Amino acid sequence: MPTTAVTARRKEPQSSKVGRPPVFTGQVVISDLIEVLEEYLDPKEVKAVYKAYLFGADAHDGQRRRSGEAFISHPLSVALILADMRLDSPSISAAILHDVIEDTPTLREQLAESFGEDVALLVDGVSKIDQIEFESKEHAEAENFRKMLLAMAKDIRVILIKLADRIHNMRTLDSLRSDQRKRIAQQTFDIYAPIANRLGMYTWTQELEDLSFQHLYPKRYSAIRKEISKRRGNRKRVVDRSRLKITEELEETGINATVVGREKNIYSVYRKMQDRRGPMAEMGGIFAIRIIVSTVDECYRVLGIIHNLYKPVPGMFKDYIAISKANGYQSLHTQLFGTFGQSIEVQIRTTDMHWVAESGVASHWRYKSQGGEAPPQILANRWLVDLIETQQESGNPSEFLEHLKTDLFPDEIYVFTPKGDIKKLPKGASALDFAYAIHSDIGNHCIGAKISNEAIPLHHVLNNGDHIEVLTARSACPTPLW
Ligand code: MN
Repeated sequence: MPTTAVTARRKEPQSSKVGRPPVFTGQVVISDLIEVLEEYLDPKEVKAVYKAYLFGADAHDGQRRRSGEAFISHPLSVALILADMRLDSPSISAAILHDVIEDTPTLREQLAESFGEDVALLVDGVSKIDQIEFESKEHAEAENFRKMLLAMAKDIRVILIKLADRIHNMRTLDSLRSDQRKRIAQQTFDIYAPIANRLGMYTWTQELEDLSFQHLYPKRYSAIRKEISKRRGNRKRVVDRSRLKITEELEETGINATVVGREKNIYSVYRKMQDRRGPMAEMGGIFAIRIIVSTVDECYRVLGIIHNLYKPVPGMFKDYIAISKANGYQSLHTQLFGTFGQSIEVQIRTTDMHWVAESGVASHWRYKSQGGEAPPQILANRWLVDLIETQQESGNPSEFLEHLKTDLFPDEIYVFTPKGDIKKLPKGASALDFAYAIHSDIGNHCIGAKISNEAIPLHHVLNNGDHIEVLTARSACPTPLW
């Protein structure tokens, strides 16, 4: 895919050859941006962006980033991240200008006058989000989320610019103090990665997750990275062999398909390990295969062909084409026993589905130029409208927050203590888990529990919003039955 290729090229450290210090790695200049824009915008639009650049460079003149480079390289990088997603020209201009209201004497009215109401609105929206003080999701208040949501709902491009801003800040986090790094990484992990995920932007989600993980748990991150590169050669050969065999088989049946092997991102490997509570040795599916075809019909035919070629692992097939995910994601997922019996994950999708899978709501702009529909955009807007209605109807901030968190963090539940404090637990947690989550002493001495004053057994699985009371007795102690 051309876009991925562009991103990969940008990330390559070009500085080592020139002998500059590593902080300047990947520093973006206007010609880099123009080059990408010319691939999909018309000359008039490119010119408008260039005008925004001149304005931004002038406004930020003399300002430097913590890493020492001229400030303008930051907004340019943000613009390039969005250009790789093929965002429209007002978004690119707004990305270049996204910090001028906050960090320079520039007024919103000036932007409206010079670049139009559209650009001014976007820059203003991004500046409003910047003023919201987020802590982690436990501390994030309903009011903050509400403000963010309102900014997003007005124009979804606002949050796309904000996410791109966060990606670039995360990429250049090394120049900050360790405590600042940790705080920003935590916030990214708790707020921005889940929002990117909810908007179906998997490429961004994965980068945000990996970068946060790297700064929050540097030791675990590098251990997993080492392990992956140790196995790379071996596993890759296995995947390559299966990949070739699949390619040959598909060629024979006359289906035009692109079959690629891919390595999963570090955080998702870690999460899989957590889920299985397995040691590093059992670190499974690092490599996977993706098959891209032209039509939905071919997806199912390919599925039949590869299940005939390799035995599928029972219970691992998922049809996200017939039943797409809430954010519009579509693909067939299956797992095969590969050439040497190792299991290999496979995704099958059409080219359109692939673009949606990579860029979620941002796929809207690519579709727009082709005059087609954009389901993720429609779904995201519906989601936002629903949330805002809930917020208006309930009038109760904590109820609203709970609703939103259920959407953003589907693998977690939020329950209440008798005092009304919120506790976060993994999905599937029991009343006993809740008792231990409050205090190990309460866990050790609990004899029963109540949900909304009704007695429940300790192994009872909790639901979102449950109000739980734990009953304890001094004499009680943990039993092996648990
Ligand atoms: Mn910024």
